[in-house]
Amino acid sequence: MTPMEANVTPTSKSINLSQIPQPQNFYSFTLETLQEYFKKFGKEKFRAQQVYKWVYEMRITDIDQMTNLSKDFRSELKKLLTFELPPVIKHLISVDGTQKFLFDVRDGNSVEAVIIPSDDRLTLCLSSEIGCNMSCHFCYTGKQKLKRRLTADEIVGQFMQVHDSLNRAGKGQRISNIVFMGMGEPLDNSDEVFKSIDVFHAQTGINLSLKKITVSTSGLIPEMYKIAQAKVRLAVSLNGYNNDVRSEVMPINKKYPLADLLDECKRYHRATGEKITMEYVLLAGVTDQIDHARQLVRLLKDVPCKVNLIPFNEHPGAGFTRPSDETVQAFHTECMNLGAQVLLRRTMGRDIFAACGQLSTKVGRTEETMDISNSKIGGNNVRSFSGR
Ligand code: SF4
Repeated sequence: MTPMEANVTPTSKSINLSQIPQPQNFYSFTLETLQEYFKKFGKEKFRAQQVYKWVYEMRITDIDQMTNLSKDFRSELKKLLTFELPPVIKHLISVDGTQKFLFDVRDGNSVEAVIIPSDDRLTLCLSSEIGCNMSCHFCYTGKQKLKRRLTADEIVGQFMQVHDSLNRAGKGQRISNIVFMGMGEPLDNSDEVFKSIDVFHAQTGINLSLKKITVSTSGLIPEMYKIAQAKVRLAVSLNGYNNDVRSEVMPINKKYPLADLLDECKRYHRATGEKITMEYVLLAGVTDQIDHARQLVRLLKDVPCKVNLIPFNEHPGAGFTRPSDETVQAFHTECMNLGAQVLLRRTMGRDIFAACGQLSTKVGRTEETMDISNSKIGGNNVRSFSGR
């Protein structure tokens, strides 16, 4: 008998296997819903914790290796759970260390996740939908209408595949932060997104601090209270220094205007005490002028926030151009001189089409890699996420 087998606790009662319609994907369960699922079959709460530990802490998904479960329960478990992850169909590594993973999410669809290294963190940018209905004009995903919202197991699956890939690489890297800034508007799929956040945060399991998880929204105001409720960080895709310009760049602003959005941001701050991150894409001639910088700082003077400036990343048929490096620097300097807390994001992953606004649902886009050798900002000192 192995030491693990010595801990075996007999199951309370056997499962009537005819009650089980179909095994469910383990990655779709929060700890609480797994407990409820087991309870339906007469299993104790702690069973869910045991399985969670095996899968998330020890990365064991072969039920036969879960040696602190009784033999009977192990054979019953095979009828209750599967452990399916979305297959990785492409994995690209940028010269700057950014990695892009393309996942098969059935029916010829794919979504992307991007991992972005920096000095003190390893941030995973996750997708929440296949395509997106928000149609932000600067965003490549926004050109592809919503096909489907991802399920929690497909969101958690992106994380686990990247986690396993890092483990296999053997460099001791671990995902430290999650941002929902990939394909899709997370609040348009809030049930599944917040379910996946429950999984990421579960102490028995991945155990990621809520402070390390950021949900970014284009401004779906009626759903924004859920970000405060979940106690995660809020990022807003702002991209306009006044209401008219924002409506021009982001159609959602016509439905949920800028003033209401900023009120909602203040409400988030009152509820959580946290600052909001404002994402601001610099579009040549549209949002990148010195006067725009002044208006932006004025607009945000009462909102507890920091601003991330993102020089626009080109994609096919964009209709916008990227400002020159000098223009970007001048905008940044003006904001700082006016006392704003503003950061110029390092764009990363442009050579593998993984930068902000460049993600696509289509498979097989490696021909769309880009020559970034002439840009001081684009090459190696600029950081970026995807989707916004
Ligand atoms: S920026 Fe985000 S919300 Fe806007 S279209 Fe792109 S994925 Fe959708």
